[in-house]
Amino acid sequence: MARFKDYSYEQMTMLPVSFDRQILPGSFEYNLTYLIEECLDPSIFHHRYKNDDGGRPAYDPAILLKVVLLAYSKGITSSRKIEQLCRDNILFIAISANSQPHFTTIADFISSSHQEIEKLFLQVLMVCDQEGLIGKDMFAIDGCKLPSNASKEWSGTQADLKKKKLKMEKAVRRMLSKHREVDKHGLDETIVERQKQQCRKLAKTAKKIQAFLDSHDDRKGVSGRTVQSNITDNDSAKMKTSHGVIQGYTGVATVDAKHQVIVSAQAHGQGQEHNLLKPSLESASANLKLNKQERRQIKITADSGYHNLSALQYLDQEKLDGYIADVGFRSRDPRFKDYERHKPVTRLKPKERFTSNEFKVDLKHKTCICPAGNAMWLQCEETKIGNSLFMKFQGYENDCRHCHLRKRCLRSEQQKSPRQFAVKLGNTKKHQQTSLIEKMKQKIDSAMGRHIYSQRLGTVEPVFGNITSSIGFKRFSLRGKQKVNGQWQLISMIHNILKIHRYAWNGS
Ligand code: SF4
Repeated sequence: MARFKDYSYEQMTMLPVSFDRQILPGSFEYNLTYLIEECLDPSIFHHRYKNDDGGRPAYDPAILLKVVLLAYSKGITSSRKIEQLCRDNILFIAISANSQPHFTTIADFISSSHQEIEKLFLQVLMVCDQEGLIGKDMFAIDGCKLPSNASKEWSGTQADLKKKKLKMEKAVRRMLSKHREVDKHGLDETIVERQKQQCRKLAKTAKKIQAFLDSHDDRKGVSGRTVQSNITDNDSAKMKTSHGVIQGYTGVATVDAKHQVIVSAQAHGQGQEHNLLKPSLESASANLKLNKQERRQIKITADSGYHNLSALQYLDQEKLDGYIADVGFRSRDPRFKDYERHKPVTRLKPKERFTSNEFKVDLKHKTCICPAGNAMWLQCEETKIGNSLFMKFQGYENDCRHCHLRKRCLRSEQQKSPRQFAVKLGNTKKHQQTSLIEKMKQKIDSAMGRHIYSQRLGTVEPVFGNITSSIGFKRFSLRGKQKVNGQWQLISMIHNILKIHRYAWNGS
């Protein structure tokens, strides 16, 4: 019969642990410790401590910084979880030198350090630059929409919130009158208590909404229109993403193409990005201390979200080499001629009105045949609509009046006038010569433009992939623009430290 060694869980043992030996050379923890101790300046936190003459010694900010950066690099942002790791995980015990900071200390350190984080982000960026990780050849700008610590259910314009508050007050009144009724006849104590609790909760929420309405005006969006405010975090915005509508911030990153180092990181409480090109570029230039000449040598790429006249005017004034795609960029690119075949087939009803492809136009002979096979008459050879030139045709009244395809051709069945059809000939000459938008189109449609723009995707998108999937940072846990901005810079700084670890200091 086989024999095995005895074992028992009912025993205790003591293990000698050397903190030094837990942090192995070549590991991320080792490089992080070296970076903080030798390259960064944690003394920037010292002005916050006023315990020279009395009070308990505080946790060293260098230790807190190491713990927080290590936890964030593993996607752990909860202060309670970080505290637990400092008690249970040997790596965190070693890196914190068994300090075991309380979760409130960690939470306070993260949420109140946005100014210091900004300075540390710059210091890490300088290390990246010294290690030759920044090429300053091409920058790609893009944003990543992430939810924040606020519910979209608490969003609305002043009118919406007033309505919500009135609804709650009405519910409270209804419940109170119901209680009075019940008091007369007597009811189960637990049910009465639960209803009272609900009533108190509703009254408290209505009061909170009123306090918000008293202290805030309607919020204005980028375009100057009224947008929804949020009671919990009024700096955040309700925005559409590919995963649905969220309440959150757009984390914008300017990324250098050489090793995908983030050279500027800013969080904005808005979904639209078209006015963010200028602040992103100015922040990147300031962070890297670039002079005008250096700025002009860098190629700047951004997607159609950043394409608008004021952004192009800024690039033109500053003489920057920008490649900003417009929404029609793909449709003009012959390489994407049949890209729609990869799109999933939807079960949506086909468009009911005829499309322009169903009208047969012969520009040379200036004729047009409508979907019913009738010839249309040439109304105008060349007319200007906006900045474009069109040739216009119109159906014959008699044809259209009795046509069996009226429903699909005209705007409504009641329409009395015949169908008009305009075919685009091109843009006006003046427009072609002067418009910055047209110039950008021509630039980006050129072979060189397409080649440079094609590098944008591989430069900036993997950065967001790394932050959200590899690191695992999927939402902001703080509230308020300043704090969220600090958190975005913190996570961007970790991304850059990982680049130093991987490409400069020979990490595995
Ligand atoms: S409505 Fe007029 S233009 Fe349209 S298909 Fe019929 S005849 Fe042609």
